[in-house]
Amino acid sequence: MIPVAKPWLGQEEIEAVKRPLSSGWVTQGPEVAAFEQEFAEFVGAEHACAVSNCTVALHLALRAVGVGPGDEVITVSHSFIATANAVRYCGATPVFVDIEPGTFNMNPALIEPAISERTKAILCVHQVGMPCNLAEIVAIAREHGLAVVEDAAPAIGSEILWQGEWQRIGRPHGDIACFSFHPRKLLTTGDGGMITTNNPEWDKKFRLWRQHSMSVPDTVRHGARQVIFESYVELGFNYRMTDIQAAVGREQLKRVPEMVARRRYLVERYRQKLSEIPGVGLPEEPAWARSNWQSFVVRLPEAANQRDVMQFMLDRGVSTRRAVMNSHREPAYAQEPWLCARRGQCDCAPGSCEMLIESERAQDHAIILPLFQLMTEEQVDEVVETLSAALTAKT
Ligand SMILES: *Cc1c(COP(=O)(O)O)cnc(C)c1O
Repeated sequence: MIPVAKPWLGQEEIEAVKRPLSSGWVTQGPEVAAFEQEFAEFVGAEHACAVSNCTVALHLALRAVGVGPGDEVITVSHSFIATANAVRYCGATPVFVDIEPGTFNMNPALIEPAISERTKAILCVHQVGMPCNLAEIVAIAREHGLAVVEDAAPAIGSEILWQGEWQRIGRPHGDIACFSFHPRKLLTTGDGGMITTNNPEWDKKFRLWRQHSMSVPDTVRHGARQVIFESYVELGFNYRMTDIQAAVGREQLKRVPEMVARRRYLVERYRQKLSEIPGVGLPEEPAWARSNWQSFVVRLPEAANQRDVMQFMLDRGVSTRRAVMNSHREPAYAQEPWLCARRGQCDCAPGSCEMLIESERAQDHAIILPLFQLMTEEQVDEVVETLSAALTAKT
């Protein structure tokens, strides 16, 4: 069986968890602090704050830029559901814009018609690792006084050409970027997340909020020679990362350049082999982007049945996944407030939206092919042959 994804962990990670386990300091402590510093350096950000996962990272990021009840946030429906959910955690309404078919990312040309007096921020996504068009998105945001939060959950190690220079995603190029360390991403800590920003005030807020808004963290009280009573200065959360996770993350971070290189190599092979199958659409990588290829998404010919193709491949030992979901088609969004650029003035059937045609088409016609560090060239060829057989069998 060829799995669709598989984390790359080794002896180094096993050795690393011995440090917190033998020291006795297992929750957020020195390993987290070191991981934050190394991560900030890696992406070129001033500040990095570790949290429990990317979903809570997005919650804190939107809170920091002032998103609250009654506000609107422009984002994509075509993303993992956590993107839109984070907007709702703030009591705000997600306003969905469609994607570009080639990159599966937010179409910048559709942002302006979606802006209203209530719009506070743009929450853009670097979907499956492909950088979105930040140059255009940030320019529109600045013109309208909106904050830009980057959902960079899957984008560790991806790069963007910025003012003539290749830079890693997470610098950030918007105001705040949020990363995930779930096992489906390149770098994993089991679960985990990171928030990067160049704004020291926001970074202070993240550190406060992730630990119950406690005035004096336990790391400080632990080392103090005088008794300290802490206070809880505003509503906070328990969004901490543990030192056990951070120890793994520090080792994983060292592997990222090799992970990206291997994926880019395997994707090249996929592209060559797949170009021989008629009707299969390959993802576009703009000249200003270098994807880490967290996932490799291909479009099936219009006539092919997605489920049948996936089942045919699974029966022959090749695991695939349906491409990225659409939040507006999920039951959790059936009764709940979300808007498109028509602001509810449309008569679309529930679970569909004519303003989100490309998002829906991508979900219905694209699949994720296997891609992981230890995948061999022969396995790539086998996947392509199986896909080819599936398409001839079904069309
Ligand atoms: C994985 C992912 C998330 C959620 O990350 P968690 O760390 O699991 O909370 C959010 N957005 C996108 C685009 C993702 O790919």
